[in-house]
Amino acid sequence: MNTFVRSVIAACVVGAGVLTACGAPEAPRAATVVESATGVASRPPTLAPGPGGLTPVFERASRARGKTVALTFDADMTADQGPRAAAGERFDNPRLIRTLRRLNVPATVFMTGRWAEEYPRQARAIGRDPLFEVANHSYSHHAFTEDCYGLPTVPVTGMRADVERAFTAFRKAGIAHPMPYFRFPGGCYDHRALTSLSTTGVTAVQWDVVSGDAFATDAGAVAREVLDGVRPGSVVVMHCTRSAAPATEEALRTIVPELRERGYRFVKVSELI
Ligand SMILES: [Zn+2]
Repeated sequence: MNTFVRSVIAACVVGAGVLTACGAPEAPRAATVVESATGVASRPPTLAPGPGGLTPVFERASRARGKTVALTFDADMTADQGPRAAAGERFDNPRLIRTLRRLNVPATVFMTGRWAEEYPRQARAIGRDPLFEVANHSYSHHAFTEDCYGLPTVPVTGMRADVERAFTAFRKAGIAHPMPYFRFPGGCYDHRALTSLSTTGVTAVQWDVVSGDAFATDAGAVAREVLDGVRPGSVVVMHCTRSAAPATEEALRTIVPELRERGYRFVKVSELI
């Protein structure tokens, strides 16, 4: 409860700033078949729906699963940020992706559909790299509840379409197998939002560790937040957006070796669910 509330608050603060945007669904249950190493198609793991088919919510894995940790990166860009991108603001962070590759760190990227439209080559490269998995952070990065730290609100009748629109944007960018996971913009959700997405087949993914990287300029402080917060099975939320999270790449260069030193193994969200 405490962790959850803290996480949601921190995420929504992020959403209130420049990090706006996220997702649109499609027919997730049908759209996410993955080829295994043996060539046999398999579906990514998802949580069972709640009562009445309610969208399930995943926050962290059981500690019994040992010293695993999932680093997740929100690739935020809001539906209305196109003019800012055209003016030179960078919502991508290729250096961060390069660092993850160099350090061989598996990661899950929660991408908005608008981000995939702006950076289709990067989106495709991330989507095709087995080190990574791409999940849905909405198309618009508008909020799925009222009062989500100033984000514009998606009407309940448009929630499913917003998630589907992101999956469509992923396909157009060349991401063949996005994962059926959805992160609510700002981390804000309620029963109505979970109900409205119940037919999409997604599992909502929250987190238990807030890196505080949004608008942070002190990489050491971000690293400390993560290193203090991680427990076995943790899901860490960070950002893959240069302009709004400029210290994240540098923080990773501290976080990754330190967690490995402590015996942690980095995994994608799909390995925790
Ligand atoms: Zn976001």
